[in-house]
Order: sequence, then C-alpha cells, then structure tokens
Amino acid sequence: MSTPRPWTATPCPRAAARLRAAWTLAVLLLLVAPFAGFVLPASVLAHHTNIKMPFAKGAPWRILQGYNGSSHQNNSSTWQYYYSLDLVRADGNTAGQRVLSPVDGTIRWIDESYGGMSINLGDGYAFAYFHTNLDPGLAAGQTIRQGQYLGTVAPPGAAGNGGTPHIHVTLWTTNDGGNWDRHAVPFTGDHRIDGYDFPDKGGSNQYLNTQVVSTNAEVGSAGTGTAPGVPTLVSPATGTTYGTAPRTVALDWNGVSGATEYQVVINDGNVTSPWTSATAWTTSRLKRMTTKAPKTTAAIPARWIAPLQVGGLSRRSVRR
Ligand SMILES: [Zn+2]
Repeated sequence: MSTPRPWTATPCPRAAARLRAAWTLAVLLLLVAPFAGFVLPASVLAHHTNIKMPFAKGAPWRILQGYNGSSHQNNSSTWQYYYSLDLVRADGNTAGQRVLSPVDGTIRWIDESYGGMSINLGDGYAFAYFHTNLDPGLAAGQTIRQGQYLGTVAPPGAAGNGGTPHIHVTLWTTNDGGNWDRHAVPFTGDHRIDGYDFPDKGGSNQYLNTQVVSTNAEVGSAGTGTAPGVPTLVSPATGTTYGTAPRTVALDWNGVSGATEYQVVINDGNVTSPWTSATAWTTSRLKRMTTKAPKTTAAIPARWIAPLQVGGLSRRSVRR
C-alpha cells in the first residue's frame, strides 16, 4: 500500500552477467578436457501480451488497492503508479508466498529497500513490482523467464510494504527499457494481466476486492542461483580407449533438469562448441591431439568435477 518511490536507477547498468555453471570433464593423456555447462537462453523474446500474475496458480488473490488508490498516483514523470494493483492472498496468507516472474524480460534495475525491480519487456513496456524479499541471485541485466522464482512476499513492515504484506504491480510504457521513462498504463487490451482486463473505468481505488487467480507456474531452478544437476557423459564412455588418435570426437551426454543449454570446451578453450540445447556435439579436427600422436593409446578416465563457476550472482543496488 505504501507508495513506491521513483526508484532512481543508473541509466547504464553493466552488461548482463549470465548465470552459468560449468563442469569440467578431465580426459587424461589425450589432453582433452571438455566441460559442459548451462546458460539461460541468450535472448528470450519478451513481450507485453503475455503478462501473468507474479505468484503461482492455485489460491485466489484479492486486490487490496487498485487504480487511483490513495498511494497509487502519478506524482511525477518518473513516479508513475496511477494504474497499480496491490495484491494479497484472499485467505490472508500472503507473507512468504513465492514470487514468480510475471514476464519474460531483463532486469532493468533493482530497488532492494523496496524489494522490487523494473523488468524490461523489450517491446516498449516494463513491468515493476515491489515489497518482496528478493532472491539474492538477482541482479540488474539478468534475463529472467516467466515463472522464474524471484523471492518471497515480505513480512509485515518490511520492504516498504507499509505494514501489510502484499505485492505491488505496475505496467509502464517506456522508451528506455523502464529505467527513467515510465508511463503507467492500465492492464487492458493486449496487455491484460493473466487474462484479466482491467481498463480505467473511472473513480478511485478501481477493482478493489476483485479476486484473481494466477495461471503462472514456477519453472525450473535455472536462473535462481541454484545450479542444475551434473550432466553425465554417455559417449565416449568412461574408460574408452582409442587405438589411434581420433581426429574428431563425438561427445554426447545426458541432459539434466534445469539446464537449457550446454557447451563443451576442450583444452581450456582451444576448442569450444556452440551453446546448444542438444545433448551431443562432435568436435572439428583436433590439431593438438594429432600432435600428440605418440599417445594414441589412452584410456579416458572421465570424471565430472564440481561446478567451476557461477556468474551473475552478485546483487547490485541501483539506488542513487
Ligand atoms: Zn501499491
């Protein structure tokens, strides 16, 4: 209910640090060291025509404060909250509920004190929400997916919620990805929210007590800071012995839940596969292996090593 502030934000956040975990497969003697990891899709086509509620389907929620409510006003060109909705669980069990991304988009900025963010939808719209405990893995610049876990609804008196746990949502049209240019628009027409058409119908506190049910569904753990499981190599099998130096090696592996793409890297990056959603890849000619011809008979004791790197996990404040 508390009115969010204008959320000052740096106009040029660092380039996106994509969440990525990687594993190393050491293939001894042949000096081939592939590793496979995962990464979020490089670009998810964001769009304003598929906005969902920022919480999971199931229990009904209720509008605690609607458009043109006491704290839902446009107070300046960058403080645009006239067409906002405050949402609470109808059964009152709001604090601690899991918050899910309502859209595909890119985090434009995060306001930690108000527990929220502006999400650039990439097509002239931005979605903002507040009053949650943000998942610590989130940072400006990250690509997020609809249904991705973003945190939980803050308890009473936290994250600027004015004492009542709720989620505040606003949709902006914007020419800068939802950074400074923010024009609140109602959730109507092709930018309904979860199918609910809420045009401006005049009056104050519009749609107060209207109940809504989400169709949002939580997606896998990718992007939340939790690495997916470890892929296992199928071929070449552990212990494979080559009678002659292979010029190319066909690799395939078992996909793992939560991973969307994989990359194989050989010899610390001398040879890399493209990121692929497939679970197989064949190297091009491996020059280094050719030069190691005397070691053509080699067992390949494959083993997966713990995650090497997880990038993009630092939270970044964008308050001025
Ligand atoms: Zn609000």
